[in-house]
Amino acid sequence: MDSIGVLLTCPMLPYLQQELEKRFRLFEFWQFPQRTQFLEEHSGSIRAVVGNISAGADAELIEALPKLEIVASYSVGLDKIDLGKCREKGIRVTNTPDVLTEDVADLVIGLCLAVLRRICASDKYVRSGEWKKGDFKLTTKFTGKTVGIIGLGRIGTAIAKRAEAFDCPISYCSRTVKPDCKYKYYPSVVELASNCHILIVACPLTPETHHIINREVIDALGPKGVLINIGRGPHVDEPELVSALVEGRLGGAGLDVFEHEPEVPEELFGLENVVLLPHVASATVETRNAMADLVIGNLEAHFMNKPLLTPVV
Ligand code: NAP
Repeated sequence: MDSIGVLLTCPMLPYLQQELEKRFRLFEFWQFPQRTQFLEEHSGSIRAVVGNISAGADAELIEALPKLEIVASYSVGLDKIDLGKCREKGIRVTNTPDVLTEDVADLVIGLCLAVLRRICASDKYVRSGEWKKGDFKLTTKFTGKTVGIIGLGRIGTAIAKRAEAFDCPISYCSRTVKPDCKYKYYPSVVELASNCHILIVACPLTPETHHIINREVIDALGPKGVLINIGRGPHVDEPELVSALVEGRLGGAGLDVFEHEPEVPEELFGLENVVLLPHVASATVETRNAMADLVIGNLEAHFMNKPLLTPVV
């Protein structure tokens, strides 16, 4: 397989890069600033693309690679891949589901606790010496709060399971009602937001879910409500979120993802009811290695004419 050209769209886990290099002829796209020239020279030998949350395979790249057979994403989200174009051209697509579910769900609980119990602000209080001047103020209880989940899929279900251990009543909104599901279903995000204290975004980014968190939803969540977003940044109308937080119309937010990441609105930096993470929900050594193994396993399966491990298209 070492003559098969594989294009890595941007720097990823060194382990993944090394394992790809051992097996394939690896092209590191970011090493070639003259992209048009690079594609003119090498497009004929590239049969696979490995993308991630920052750089996937858009229509332009897919069109530029006439021998492309498979796009293997080092992520579960597929929003950086033009799936329609892949289907049209018979290009296979794989992602990395399941192996990251637990980590992402764990981090959601961490964000809920961090926002409600002000863990980051308390930590700062100790480090800055403020504690010597007086006790930290009282915070808000997490146990028993109503939790609403947008997208009761793999990650949403794992979040619900964890929140149940905190005696949180769970409700959800998905495209479809889940049969045999004990959680309450709301057909709209506004209704879900009106009936929960903590609203968690755990659905894929699609044209339908772009800005699924808008002013109406934020107002429905209200000044005691908390938004947790571990989906994708563009799920949220960020200027609306920022103004609601600054004006106190929303109680707090725990954000792992941002609309224009790594750019984060600076108005949020001074707010202690907001916890900001640099898109790390799946970023543990164990999970990232497992994701890398899935990428490699899918590529090997494809080029050895075996069934793909985690096919999407
Ligand atoms: P999944 O198993 O496919 O679940 C997605 C859920 O979203 C499904 O329940 C689906 O509903 C629902 N959904 C789809 N479109 C919707 C809409 N328009 N309105 C409401 N719900 C909708 O996916 P997953 O593995 O749980 O992953 C979910 C997403 O999490 C990924 O796509 C990714 O963007 C994000 N993620 C982020 C990180 C991070 O680092 N922050 C890490 C991993 C994943 P139906 O079942 O009714 O179709």
